[in-house]
This record gives sequence, C-alpha cells and structure tokens, in this order.
Amino acid sequence: MLDKLEIRSNSPASRFSFTNNLSASNKIPRQINRNLIFNQIRTRQPISRADLARVSGLQRSTVSLIVEELLAERWIVEGSTGRLPRGRRPTFLNVNSQRGVLALDIHPSQTTLAVTDLGGSILAQELIVLPANPQKVIGAIVSAIRKMIAANKDRSFDGIGISLPGRLDLRLDKSKHGTSIFAPNINWPIGRIKSRVEQATCLPVFVDNVANACALSEVWFGNSDGMHDLVVVNVSEGLGTGIFANGRILRGEGGSAGEFGHVQVDPNGLPCACGSTGCWETVASNRAGMRYYTEIANKPSPPFEDLLKLAEAEDPAAKQAIDRMCAALGRGMHMIASALAPSEIIVVGDITTLWHLAGPLIETAMRRNPLVRVPRLRPAQEGNKARLRSAVALVMHEYLL
Ligand SMILES: [Zn+2]
Repeated sequence: MLDKLEIRSNSPASRFSFTNNLSASNKIPRQINRNLIFNQIRTRQPISRADLARVSGLQRSTVSLIVEELLAERWIVEGSTGRLPRGRRPTFLNVNSQRGVLALDIHPSQTTLAVTDLGGSILAQELIVLPANPQKVIGAIVSAIRKMIAANKDRSFDGIGISLPGRLDLRLDKSKHGTSIFAPNINWPIGRIKSRVEQATCLPVFVDNVANACALSEVWFGNSDGMHDLVVVNVSEGLGTGIFANGRILRGEGGSAGEFGHVQVDPNGLPCACGSTGCWETVASNRAGMRYYTEIANKPSPPFEDLLKLAEAEDPAAKQAIDRMCAALGRGMHMIASALAPSEIIVVGDITTLWHLAGPLIETAMRRNPLVRVPRLRPAQEGNKARLRSAVALVMHEYLL
C-alpha cells in the first residue's frame, strides 16, 4: 500500500523505476491510479466514493476526478443510493455489466474462446475445434467468434484479446501481409489472425504472446501494484517467458525478447522446433515430461494431463518423469533469476495443478546453485484459467492503464 500512497503525492520520478522517457511526465502514476480505482470498484462493488478513497489511500479529490472520468467513458455506472442516518446519501459505483470482452486463447493443442465481463469473470466458454487443413484454421476461429457475438447480443464488446504461443513484431502490425511472428509450435498462418478477426468483427483486436499476456494479467488482475519486476514462465508444449520489468513488458528489438525457452542448455540435446538443438524447452516442457515417461516406463505416455494424474496417484514412472521435468524447469529458472533478478517467477500451465508436488521440486533445483537474489516462486493466481484471463487483460490494459 505504501508504494501506492506515494503515487498521489507527486513524489520524484526517481521513486519509480520507469524508463527515462516515461518518468518525465506524471502520466504513468495517473494511469496507475486509474487502474487502482477501477480494480477497487471491480473487486468491492458496490462501493461509494468515500469508501474508495479509504481503501485506495488516494485523496478524495483524486478519486472523484478518476470516477468522473470512468463514468464518462461508461466503464462504471452509478447504482443504488446508500442509507445513512443523516447527511448526504452516498451513490454506489459498479462496473458496467453491459460491457464485455472476448478472450481467445490459442494453444498448440487447444483453442478456447470466452465471453467475459470487464472484471475478467468468464460468462461463456467453448473449445474451438481447429480443422486439419492449416489454410482453414483462421476461418474456423472467425466463424466461432461471430457465433459467440451473435449469442451474446445483449452485451456490447470492447474488444477481442488474443493470447498466442509466438512472438510478434508489433511494429509490423499494420502490414497487409500480417504480423511477423515466431511460432515454432503452430503450423497455420497465425500472423494473419489479428487482421482477419478485425475485418470480420469490426472490433479492436489486441494480440500478444501468451507469456507476455499472463505477465500483464498478473499486474492487471493481481495484487501487483505494477512496481515489481516479475517473470511468467508458461509451461506447455513449448516454454515461453514474459518479462515485466521497470513498469512495462520487456519486448526487446522486434518484440523477440523472452525466448529463454530457446536457450541451448544441452549442446548434445534433441532437435527443437525452432531449428536448434537442446533448447531449454526440449528438456522442461510438457512434451519433455511425456518423453521422460516413455523412456522410464518403456511405453507410450498418456496425454500430459493424465500423466499429472498418474503422478498424483503415486505411479513411480510418472512421478520420476515429473521429477525430471521439474528439475529441468528449476535449472532454467536459475538462469532467469540470475539474468533478470525479478521479485517473482510465476508459473502458468497444467503443471500448476500439481503444485504441491511440482513447486518444491522446481524451487529446489532453482536454488541448487547460489543466487544473488532468490525470487519468490508461485503458480499463476488463476490456475488453468490464467491464459484465458490473460487475453482479457490485453484488452483492459489497452484501455485503462
Ligand atoms: Zn528451440
């Protein structure tokens, strides 16, 4: 809370670790206050202005100003009037329930579409079955989105957030040929998804790498005040990381930062989808876990979700396979902790459903060699809904932060 209190008092820019060009103005603290107020309304609604000032630690005048702005933009609405023994009756504020966001989580093995309210609560959800023909995939996604919009006519949508397993060069966004993208685990023209969905729906579409989106989501929906550096490690068929540092997502040149998954950890390792060999993802992804099971049990591995259930049921081969995968995850996280010194490393993916087993194994491997600073290691707040919620964060972040 103290950090937030500092924001209101025009404290020197050096209090914040934003990059120089941003700290020159007070725009960012203002945006953080806006985010703070909106999230207080979202989580505590219905709430009065006076209570907002109390719980946010901001001055009443600041709260009033932001509330008027959010009301004018229809993000929030005024609701019922409170009852007090005397004096003016407070008007309660609520998030505008007529508005919503479409969230699309594209995953190498599964693509999910959802309707959420502005708070990220999922109101409707469906799996999209993607056709085998790569040229027909975007058409199938577009038609599922159209159907979902038609089935939710009572709601107005502010945009579509798409989180996907690849790195986009956001500078090329307006290119007719689609966005340049690095997505070694996807075999269809995913770079065209943004423009195709925009054309078909006339809604603004915000696309980002799933790990970046999850990092934003932790800041947007989580308790993070946007001040702490954090790294999200998305563990699925591949391995992706999203880095939130100095108050923003670290994108690097051409949007290609965060590919720790493709750092070579074993020069004699197996070929990777990126064209290299022995990348971290070849030893620590879900696929690696399944391969370990095959090697140990000498039979084909069940799907990763079932492998986790086997490990939970004390199957020795499954436990050993998960053990090896977690050890490899932890060794890679040592590299991340050494390179970036984040205050937190947050894990996203099915492996978090077995956190009581996986968490300690990963942590032990991460701490095996000395670290100047040991980050807090934890699973994403939303568990297996984290990727879908991250797509909502892409839209809300664009408008409100
Ligand atoms: Zn690779």
